[in-house]
Amino acid sequence: MDTTPNTLALIGNTPLVRLAGPSAATGCDIFGKCEFTNPGASVKDRAALSIVEDAEARGMLAPGGTIVEGTAGNTGIGLALVANAKGYRTIIVMPDTQSKEKMDTLRALGAELVTVPAAPYSSPCHFVHTSRRIAEETPGAIWANQFDNIANRRAHITGTAEEIWAQMDGRVDGFTCAAGTGGTIAGVGLGLKAKDERVCIALSDPHGAALYEYYAHGELRSEGSSVAEGIGQGRITANLEGAPIDTQFRISDQEGFDWVDRLLRDEGLCLGLSSGINVAGAVRLARHLGPGQRVATILCDTGFRYLSTLYDPAWLEAKGLHRAA
Ligand code: PMP
Repeated sequence: MDTTPNTLALIGNTPLVRLAGPSAATGCDIFGKCEFTNPGASVKDRAALSIVEDAEARGMLAPGGTIVEGTAGNTGIGLALVANAKGYRTIIVMPDTQSKEKMDTLRALGAELVTVPAAPYSSPCHFVHTSRRIAEETPGAIWANQFDNIANRRAHITGTAEEIWAQMDGRVDGFTCAAGTGGTIAGVGLGLKAKDERVCIALSDPHGAALYEYYAHGELRSEGSSVAEGIGQGRITANLEGAPIDTQFRISDQEGFDWVDRLLRDEGLCLGLSSGINVAGAVRLARHLGPGQRVATILCDTGFRYLSTLYDPAWLEAKGLHRAA
């Protein structure tokens, strides 16, 4: 028998695939961690499971309890599937700018979905603050608080980083990804540095996020905007505190989309835009490190989640993104 005991045991231990195009373009070996193979089809299943198990261990979540969270969608999907497998209820608050596929998936999983108009973090109507209020008002509920709950990044220190290190036989020269909560970049960064402090950790920041300027010049400042879902942070979350960032790149949506498109056409990988931004960052990092280096990044979620956006020519045109000839 070679079986998996239950759904939750399907989370993590994702494959690491060598990306032929990015490797050939740089003379390096660039690898992508296939987080779309998690049962919720994104990297956020790891954080969801870790946050729920941490709350259980602290005695904050009892059978029949409710999990409330504000999310761009993937964390909600992860929480809903973990909750279903463990017998909890979920209330998910999401900005209405996120893809229809994520909302439909959440409803299909049985989550109670609350959508709010996109608002700045300083507004009480922001999805994060709305979710905290709902958690406070709901008896027996916990607020998952993925941004400032470091059970999120712990999943990447003990899981993702260990897996990458083992899969690459301990020969890792660089790692990069973008930040939403920052759990992935900080957790994998801390985990890999604990193995070998020479591993170069690079942040790949989309336009409209403030972290590039923070790590480059010590000031949280943003310019431009991005249509990438799930990434782009304007503050130092608890998960980002102490993240060992050695260098940083600012990646445009078009640069990320070029890799989404090439990976689909040349390698049969159907990914979301944050994965494309990560791969673009990995190419930049490989060039920064020089030929022959081994670089890893995260393929965060499946492109099937964006058929109505990233894979719709009319949407691309409306957003000013174009496919290379
Ligand atoms: N890509 C996607 C599609 C996501 O949903 C998220 C999570 N918000 C990320 C990247 C970033 O991951 P993290 O929250 O660990 O920074």
